[in-house]
Amino acid sequence: MNSLQQSIQGSRELLQDSQGRSFPYLRLSLTDLCNFSCNYCLPDGCGEHHHKSTLSLEEITRLVSAFAVLGVEKIRLTGGEPTLRSDFRDIVRVIKSVPGIRRVAMTTNGYKMDRRVESWLDAGVDNINVSVDSLDPRAFELITGHNRLQEILGGMDKAFAKGLPEIKVNAVLMRGVNDVQLQDYLDWIKHKPITMRFIELMQTGDNGAFFDKYHVPGQAIRDQLLERGWVRMTRMKDAGPAHEYCHPDYVGRIGLITPYSKDFCKDCNRLRVTSQGHLQLCLFADGGHDLRHLLQSDDQQEELIAEIQKVLRLKVDGHFLDQGYTGNTASLAQIGG
Ligand code: SAM
Ligand code: SF4
Repeated sequence: MNSLQQSIQGSRELLQDSQGRSFPYLRLSLTDLCNFSCNYCLPDGCGEHHHKSTLSLEEITRLVSAFAVLGVEKIRLTGGEPTLRSDFRDIVRVIKSVPGIRRVAMTTNGYKMDRRVESWLDAGVDNINVSVDSLDPRAFELITGHNRLQEILGGMDKAFAKGLPEIKVNAVLMRGVNDVQLQDYLDWIKHKPITMRFIELMQTGDNGAFFDKYHVPGQAIRDQLLERGWVRMTRMKDAGPAHEYCHPDYVGRIGLITPYSKDFCKDCNRLRVTSQGHLQLCLFADGGHDLRHLLQSDDQQEELIAEIQKVLRLKVDGHFLDQGYTGNTASLAQIGG
């Protein structure tokens, strides 16, 4: 541990905002490029992107080291599709070796997961979230533009076989599409250690008309769960925004992420850095704060840490999504969902 780390180690208030929320968790976007074209996110595929000018391995190392000194213990790699980085496994290895980082998680669309998941785990990935918006192969293809459901499900089986204790699966709730498929998901998780997380569709700059047509409140799923005997679990401190439900007859769990509900932002525990090195204080902020110029040399660590702390003071209480305000966010692929 170097002197900088020693001098500020131990203080848990280093990454606290003016509301007293703390941030043990950073979501780092590795690229804004994606190979899927999910109808709620990038319906026309990935247009303009900055894949070639994403943060380098050295820049990522400096960034993560600074956040680790500030008390961040978990990094989630996201995108775009993070596994499109050819150095994805090197990134995982390097982050894993940063002092203070305990867990590396990833969120993926599951592209070629059946062939690659073992190498992700070998590199040091601790947690995997994979998006499965429908368990019906035809609906899955209509949503994502790809007939790849089987390779994703096969990849999940391989991950379990290799010893991954649980997987979180994300599905964006869409009216008439998957809110009516709850029973399929419940049957699927009956004997599998899967937390199935339904995320309310969020409006972004690019998906207004889609949002108006398909948004359905998470309460629709909650009511179906309660009717079927599912019970809301007690929330751990620092649990983040998901509310989890369990049932004695099921190994798996259900999580609900309801960004339009009152008090959602009260439990915010995540910061984001884009693949271009901008610190985003909220998914729906007006823009990010450039950190990249402070990632160019190891000598800049002190300045970088001070800048992160300064920017964090600007974090506002919450977003104004319920008023249709989406900030500068055209799609979540742009900043890492
Ligand atoms: N490509 C990866 C994936 O799809 O899992 C990682 C990036 S993606 C932006 C992260 C998560 O955000 C996915 O679970 C995706 O379904 C979700 N997402 C994307 N756009 C969304 C929207 N408008 N509302 C709610 N969730 C969204
Ligand atoms: Fe790509 Fe993920 Fe967006 Fe789908 S949700 S288009 S996989 S970034």
